[in-house]
Amino acid sequence: MISSKMVDLVKNSSVIRAMFEEGKKLAAKYGSENVYDFSLGNPSVEPPERVKEAIIEVLNEENQNLIHGYPNNSGYEDVREKVANHINQKFDTKYCHDNIVMTVGAAGGLNVIFKTLLNPSDEVIVFAPFFGEYRNYVSNYDGSLVVVSPNTKDFQPNLEEFKDKITAKTKAVIVNTPNNPTGVVYSEETIKKLAGILEEKQEEYKTSIYLISDEPYRELVYDGVEVPYLTKYYKNTIVGYSFSKSLSLPGERIGYLVLPDELDDAGDIKAAANVATRILGFVNAPSLIQRAVSRCLDAEVDVEIYNRNRELLYQSLLSYGYECIKPEGAFYLFVKALEEDDKAFVEKAKAHNILIVPGFSFGCPGYFRLAYCVDYDMIKRALPHFEQLAKEYGF
Ligand code: PLP
Repeated sequence: MISSKMVDLVKNSSVIRAMFEEGKKLAAKYGSENVYDFSLGNPSVEPPERVKEAIIEVLNEENQNLIHGYPNNSGYEDVREKVANHINQKFDTKYCHDNIVMTVGAAGGLNVIFKTLLNPSDEVIVFAPFFGEYRNYVSNYDGSLVVVSPNTKDFQPNLEEFKDKITAKTKAVIVNTPNNPTGVVYSEETIKKLAGILEEKQEEYKTSIYLISDEPYRELVYDGVEVPYLTKYYKNTIVGYSFSKSLSLPGERIGYLVLPDELDDAGDIKAAANVATRILGFVNAPSLIQRAVSRCLDAEVDVEIYNRNRELLYQSLLSYGYECIKPEGAFYLFVKALEEDDKAFVEKAKAHNILIVPGFSFGCPGYFRLAYCVDYDMIKRALPHFEQLAKEYGF
């Protein structure tokens, strides 16, 4: 008999994954060219050529025991030093290897940091809509997720409500910008206000509240938009980065945490994150790809390919009568469902072989998410079906 906690988790298992499976079934029935799967954030743009070269260089040029052996639980020191230097160059910071923990993607990094920080019933605040897996990551350590309701006007965080939801038990706040599922980039003004509220509340409760910046989409931005680097605005900031989307390497499971010296209890946090990496069973982030990414920190995927998809989908959906804000980053559109019940709407879309994810799974019912990290031609084939669906609702 499996644990009662897992019984519930299996029952509520990810809606997004379920959709993905559904897509495979529909493709078998109707042919894959007649199924329009916008459900999963699996990058469609190829990793830069530099990644392949770097992997080959590591294999050809480096010591075989070193590249396949156990590194420090926090990662190879030279890799962490290169990552720190890269961040310093980009954001004018002063980190060294000691501030970096290599992680098993952003998901691994978040689990390490929650294991490090959370006592049972400690509260972690998120802003809806949010990446649904946060629920599981926080519950893994018996923390309590506190959701700030969505601001559907522009999907910047609802700071008035945020202020009211901070308590003496608030241990951490997650922000994710560029955001999954909205594609919104939180403005510098928003970040400054958010930091101000956190300072005030830390003072009021005499606690440390850690701001966790989950940024797998940092590099995927359009129209030259700037994504503020949050450690500059609030000293108790921990950054979780991932190469899953920035280099199209989600299966390789590689990312890192930035743990600045300015954090309250920085020494303890760094030591605990190292141990958490080990005892969660990761032991260390995968060794070969650690070494490879350290050689291509400047490489970039071709964001223009996502941008073309974004423009086509956004403009077309608007012309059919859908409502949506234009995303500035990531590769998602978060669209108002054409009826209140987003689950019912998603079912109707499925009848057109369109696979999308209902907003409730991001804590924002009444909307749906479209992942446009897909083939451009699939978008073109899907458009008449989106139009037909809108017509069914009288548009
Ligand atoms: N955080 C957000 C907001 C995500 O969208 C994802 C993946 O889609 C993750 C974390 C996990 O990313 P990774 O593959 O790096 O673990």
